[in-house]
This record gives sequence, structure tokens and C-alpha cells, in this order.
Amino acid sequence: MSQATATEITDTGVIQSVSGPVVTARDLDARMNDVVYVGEEGLMGEVIEIEGNVTTVQVYEETSGVAPGEPVESTGEPLSVDLGPGVLDAIYDGVQRPLDVLEDKMDSAFLDRGVDAPGIDLEELWEFEPEVEEGDVVEAGDVVGIVEETVTIDHKVMVPPDYEGGEVVAVEAGEFTVTDTVVELDNGEEITMRQEWPVREARPSEEKQTPRTPLVSGQRVLDGLFPLAKGGTAAIPGPFGSGKTVTQHQLAKWADADIVIYVGCGERGNEMTEVIEDFPELEDPKTGNPLMARTSLIANTSNMPVAARESCIYTGITIAEFYRDMGYDVALMADSTSRWAEAMREISSRLEEMPGEEGYPAYLAARLAQFYERAGYFENINGTEGSVSAIGAVSPPGGDFSEPVTQNTLRIVKTFWALDADLAERRHFPSINWNESYSLYREQLDPWFEDNVDEEWPEKRQWAIDVLDEEAELQEIVQLVGKDALPEDQQLTLEIARYLREAYLQQNAFHPVDTFCPPEKTFSMLTTIKTFNDEAFSALEAGVPVDEIIDIDAAPRINRINVQEDYEEYVEELKADIKEQLRALY
Ligand code: ADP
Repeated sequence: MSQATATEITDTGVIQSVSGPVVTARDLDARMNDVVYVGEEGLMGEVIEIEGNVTTVQVYEETSGVAPGEPVESTGEPLSVDLGPGVLDAIYDGVQRPLDVLEDKMDSAFLDRGVDAPGIDLEELWEFEPEVEEGDVVEAGDVVGIVEETVTIDHKVMVPPDYEGGEVVAVEAGEFTVTDTVVELDNGEEITMRQEWPVREARPSEEKQTPRTPLVSGQRVLDGLFPLAKGGTAAIPGPFGSGKTVTQHQLAKWADADIVIYVGCGERGNEMTEVIEDFPELEDPKTGNPLMARTSLIANTSNMPVAARESCIYTGITIAEFYRDMGYDVALMADSTSRWAEAMREISSRLEEMPGEEGYPAYLAARLAQFYERAGYFENINGTEGSVSAIGAVSPPGGDFSEPVTQNTLRIVKTFWALDADLAERRHFPSINWNESYSLYREQLDPWFEDNVDEEWPEKRQWAIDVLDEEAELQEIVQLVGKDALPEDQQLTLEIARYLREAYLQQNAFHPVDTFCPPEKTFSMLTTIKTFNDEAFSALEAGVPVDEIIDIDAAPRINRINVQEDYEEYVEELKADIKEQLRALY
């Protein structure tokens, strides 16, 4: 947060009560969502309720030891983030304090309280390359220059959205800090590389558009069956050991987003420690640079109270919108929104609000919706197009999807990737349950797949879905009477479904080739299985016994398409062999 750089104190009140992260103050002149400093230590908090002379604050730091009678200071400013070069490759806590700066300041890995740190380094020099000249007229949102923020990402320096804009009267290339003026306008407005933005307010856009491009992930089960759109929303439940971490890493590495924002508002400190340790190790497979060069990590550290989970989420989405404004495609992953909802429940109960379902506040659904609504495919105010795709993990207790957080989330998001602990146990990875998952983007993304991959994309996908559905039904019968009791055509269907599951839906994240499957290969694999299907059924109709059909030499080679680098040739040969071997049987 920008607290170190902002702020004057506009008023001082007195603490009346302290209840965990909720503090009430008397005689404080503040507005809703204003940032306040609580107690002698100056812990950061945010005004969440005002009733008469009593102001209620949720505090983003541990409040033990804070006592009634201590001061509360209002800044008169809403909770905001610092935006500018330096946000990427940074690891923040829930109120955008860079963890490395905090550690240096306190000489310890355990964060102390009441420590200030600006979200971006105010002293670092950046090489500013202007994109405008004196005499040019610029408007809010326009790009005035470029800074190489990391080896991977060019940072676009923009006129802040709340500026009027005007004619450029001074601009210079060179090295500047984020607070130096780089462009001056005739109306006196000065543009720096740093912007502040209140986290609870969506950054403005020209228009939110219907997303029509997939966020290609290179994961077959996702791209092939349950695609997410650029600017879309998805939920992913994460029962322990179900492969959630691997799935998230795969998305972070391979999804064709320019920028990744990872928001960790986890429960246990060590969950987040893992993330903080893991992410900086990851390599960006597309560039060979560290993945962090296009990533910003916001992690609620162990000594931060539950309230900070909320600020994590808002900080993350605001940063995402900032890079969207530059014309980038941003993927935001929030892990886990259930922990955030639990925080809302705790705060709400301390406020003695009327509880809704399972003790969650009545506004749970509205809050979740507000968050996901900030995702989307946008025409930005500077005319560029950019997107924020939001992928929220949910962690339903006991894997029970009927609980309120999961249910409310599913009403909002348009993609559901049901990670399944049973599949993981059977070593079916990625363990995304194809019967329970869905994507409401399929139809609107079909034209893209038809134009960019193959016009039969939708038809082939539907065929696969139908076979898998049929398998699910047949499995019930098989459990009762055994496979051999089924008619031959159904036995054959089961065999085809097995290839769909094992060869197509399974994908090994740790295999150098299989880890990423371009959509063309995804389609090609499906086509091969379909060829086997069609030829096999023709053979069956011609009277060949099912056992002979499924026994052909070529069939098991379907299971190895995934690891072929030059799959085209392999697939063509395989399809020819399947045909030849099956036709030889009749
Ligand atoms: P979680 O985070 O849900 O506890 P992980 O993501 O750590 O689970 O996955 C547990 C294990 O499952 C991993 O160590 C790995 O062996 C295996 N696994 C998960 N996903 C995949 C995958 N896509 N490919 C191969 N192995 C996987």
C-alpha cells in the first residue's frame, strides 16, 4: 500500500474496543473504506462501518496488545495500491508491502507490525522511452512511454485514468524514478510512472466485450473439453492432494496470458511459504526467463489476520486491471476464495450482523460477484484491448460442493474445473472430473477453434463428450453384471472411452513434451481416437469379434501420441496402420 508515500493524518480518534481484527473507535472523522492507523504501533486498517460517533475498522495486522484508549488516526484516503514498474517480479503481503523490503527492515523473516513500505521502490531508476512528443495531445489512459520493467515485459506508462489530458509541453527520455515527472501537460498535469488506485474501485474501461478468444492452456482436458475464455471466470476446487498445485503451476506457466497475478490468501502460513518458495523457482517455458518476470505474487503471510485476505484479493484484481489497461492479457489466480469468505464470516460475526447460510454474511454472494465482475475482456480507455481472466480456487470443507461458498461461486463463474481426489488417487492426472466440470464458453469460443485449429473442433468434442457420458452410464451396468455381459458394441464403446481417458484426458505435467499440448495436437489426438472408433465399428458391423478388434497392434500406440514431439507424422502412420489392420480382419 502506498501508506509510506501518501499520507497526512486528517483526524485522530480513540479506540473503544478491540475484538480480534475488528476495532471500534470514537470521535474519528473518517469515511467508509478510508485507511486508518490503529493504536500506538500504527497498524493498518480500513473503515468498514460508521454508526454515529463510532467507526468500525478491520485491521490488516495482528491486534494483540492493542488496547482501548490508544489513538486511531485517519488518513482520509481509501485503501489503494501503488502501480508502476516494479510490481512484476515482486512478492507482496496482503497490503502490498514488498516482503523482501519488510524482511530487510526487520532483519527477520517474521514480519513485525506497523512497518511501512511503499508498493514500488521509490528510488530505483528506470529507463523511460517516450512514445509522445511535445505538441501531441493525450487523453486519460493513453500510453506516453515505455519502460523495460523486466526482461519479459515492457511496461506502458499511461496517463492516469482520472486525468483530464491535454497537450504535451515537456517530455524527456532518460532515467527516472517512479515519482519523477516524465511528461507535463499544458493544463499543468504531471505524469509520473507511478499511479495510485483505490482497490475497491474497478479501473475504468471503454467497454466490456463478450470474450471470444480462449485462454489456451496447453492442457488437453481444459482446452479440449472445458475451455476458459480470455477474460473469463473459472472456479477450481482443491481437495488436498488432488493436484491443485501442479494444475496452478501449469496454468501459470503455459496459459497464454502475458501477466500472471497469483493471490494467496491461504489458511496456514506454510501453505503460503510454499508458494513464495515455489514460484520464484519456476521458469517461463516460452522465454526461458524466470516466470516471476511476468508475475506478481500477493501472499497473506502467517502473521496477518484474516481481514488481510480481503485486501489480498482486491490488491490482486487492481494490479491485474492495471496491466490489462496496457493491453495485456492477465491471468489472476486466487487461492483460495473460501478462505476469504471465511474471513468475511468472522468479521461479520464480530460485527454481530445477521448471519445468512452457515453463518456467512448475507452479502457473501454480492462480494464474490463484485470480484469476478472485474474480470473480463475489455476495450480499454486508450483503445487497446486487454483481459483479466479470474481463476478462483474454492476449498469446500469435506469436498462438499453444496456448501454456500462453492454454490455461490458456481452461480457466478462460467467454468468449473472439478479437481477430484478419487481420480488423483487412481493417478489420473490432471484429475479434472469430466462428468462434473463444465464450461459455458464452449459455444462462444467455437468459432476461434474452427478458424484457428479445425472446423470440426466442436463436432469432435461433442463426440468425445457423448462417448464419456455413455461410458459413465455403462459403468453402472458393468458394476452390476460385469463387462462381458454387455453387448459387443457397448464393450467397444468402453474401450474407446478408455482411450479417451487414458490417452487424451490424462496428461503428464512432468514430461518435457506432454506438459504442453498445443490445440492442434489436442485435436489431432482426438481425431486419431475417432478414426479408431469409426474403423472399429465398421469392423464390428462386418462381423469381426470385439476382442479381435481391440487387440490390434496399432491401438496401444494411441497412448503414446502425447509424448511425440513430431506427432503429425506419427499420427498419420498410426491412422493408416489402424485402418489397415482392422480392414484386414474382414
Ligand atoms: P495438491 O496441491 O492438491 O495437494 P499437488 O498438486 O501437489 O496436490 O499434486 C500431488 C501429486 O500429484 C504431485 O506431486 C504429482 O506427483 C501428482 N500430479 C498432480 N498433477 C499432475 C499432473 N498433471 N501430471 C503428473 N502428475 C501430477
